[in-house]
Amino acid sequence: MNQVVKKTTKTAFFALGGLGEVGKNTYCIEHGDSIIIIDAGVTFGDEYLPGINYVLPDYTYLVENQEKIKALIITHGHEDHIGGIPFLLKNISVPTIYAPKLAASFIKYKLDEHRIKSKSRISEIDSNSNIKVGPFVLSFFDMTHSIPDTLGIEIDTPNGKIVHTGDFKIDLTPVGKDIDLHKIAKLGESNITLLLSDSTNIEVPGLTISEREVIASIHDVFRNTSGRLIIGTFASNVHRIQQIAEAAVIFKRKILVFGRSMEKTILLGRKLGYINVPDSYFISPEVAKTLRPEEILIFSTGTQGETMAALSRIAAGQHKHIKAAPGDTVVLSSSAIPGNTAAINKVVNLLSRAGVNVLTNSVISNIHASGHASREELKLILKLFKPNYFCPMHGEYRMLKLHAELAHELDIPKDNTFVLANGDVLLLDKGKVTKAVSRVHAGDIYVDGKDINGLSTAVIKDRKILSNEGLVAALVTIDAKNNRLLTKPTILSRGFIYIKENAELVVQAETLINTTLTDLFKKDRVTFGEIKNTIRNTLSTFLFNKTRRNPMIIPVIMNMNDSEEK
Ligand SMILES: [Zn+2]
Ligand SMILES: [Zn+2]
Repeated sequence: MNQVVKKTTKTAFFALGGLGEVGKNTYCIEHGDSIIIIDAGVTFGDEYLPGINYVLPDYTYLVENQEKIKALIITHGHEDHIGGIPFLLKNISVPTIYAPKLAASFIKYKLDEHRIKSKSRISEIDSNSNIKVGPFVLSFFDMTHSIPDTLGIEIDTPNGKIVHTGDFKIDLTPVGKDIDLHKIAKLGESNITLLLSDSTNIEVPGLTISEREVIASIHDVFRNTSGRLIIGTFASNVHRIQQIAEAAVIFKRKILVFGRSMEKTILLGRKLGYINVPDSYFISPEVAKTLRPEEILIFSTGTQGETMAALSRIAAGQHKHIKAAPGDTVVLSSSAIPGNTAAINKVVNLLSRAGVNVLTNSVISNIHASGHASREELKLILKLFKPNYFCPMHGEYRMLKLHAELAHELDIPKDNTFVLANGDVLLLDKGKVTKAVSRVHAGDIYVDGKDINGLSTAVIKDRKILSNEGLVAALVTIDAKNNRLLTKPTILSRGFIYIKENAELVVQAETLINTTLTDLFKKDRVTFGEIKNTIRNTLSTFLFNKTRRNPMIIPVIMNMNDSEEK
């Protein structure tokens, strides 16, 4: 569908990313000839998407409705909210990007990095801003999250008020600005039609612990550590990095920073005054060599066990500058993102084997707090906004569903809550909200490195097979002119089975191909295609029956009598 609200007086809300997933948040509000986009995020590739750096929303709908796009509004500077901007701007032009201060500087850095000369004006906003974009009037309120300058948005549309919470937790003793509960309560008095609220931690009961409690635990670690201290945390958690860096000053440790994303956060955080640490505290690896272990703090990326990140390389003894050693303490001030546990354990084991004291959130409590609201905080937000309709966002399907059920508990009728997928459309009509029958095109685009063109699913499928099942090559030498095999086939494998331990299996497979091909050559004329297919079919059935695995099979055919392929 090219236009959602063509020739109607209704206002549409839909997401191109962010519903049914934690990532690539991209929400749109459309009325008449205007569209505003809220956030433009990416999702990072994971072990299920080998070699894929990012997943982006499919921007087709926005490309087709380019002339309607009036503005992009950013809630905060996390990658799942701003990471898609360089790619979005390659596809469409956005007259103005409204972003809070820190996010604005991240965006500028990002556009430079991607060498994008954008015509978009970047305009800084804060909780006092009031902007009119087409038929919409936007105002903002301060939220607490794991990064400074996080805003929630109230959008006045011709058909009612929409509130978008952005990412938040309710931290009453935050590191940065307070959450503006007064403003939120006041907004709640103004008849909110539709509330869109962060669902990430709906499954966590109670309240999220405050950043202040985390820093108390971190100070304890500084106090009780006599050797070198290495702290791994999310580079996106500006508040945490700020507090750890300030603790380094108190406990007189000089700071080394490893990892590109961490360097970027610290560079911009210091430039904008969020991280207040004298220059003399940041040192080079060369200077660190002249200091005693108890004078050093190392910031490191890699809390999720990412193989290329600094922490993994330190653990594996492959880091350019430092090697894990007995006496070191490594703190993982983070939580495991589901799916990363095995990789994290590997790093923790390597570090432990090297004699390092490893502290994770399960060893001592409170060295990490989530940036997202737990169940009781989500209840409070629902109570304060008192919306007529509710659409949970920023969450996987089960989170959205639980969040909708929570709203039922708080007396929002079932018919007034919407668990949506990307591409579903809600229509606001004079204060009433219904789900539209038609949908907007929404999908995933996979990006390898900085390539915007995306990858086909076939390539990804090949990579999945290679990484999960390995590769088996069958080398066959034939005499095409005389239609015969010259030698017995040879099998090589990578990542499939260890050939030495499976010599029997390999011999059986080679014999099987030999017999099958000998049979095939009894025909008058055999094409290369037939040989390839016969090898593939025979081998894949045989190997699957024996091993229950489906490696990628590559027939390599050498023709000794004629070098031309037929
Ligand atoms: Zn966030
Ligand atoms: Zn987010």
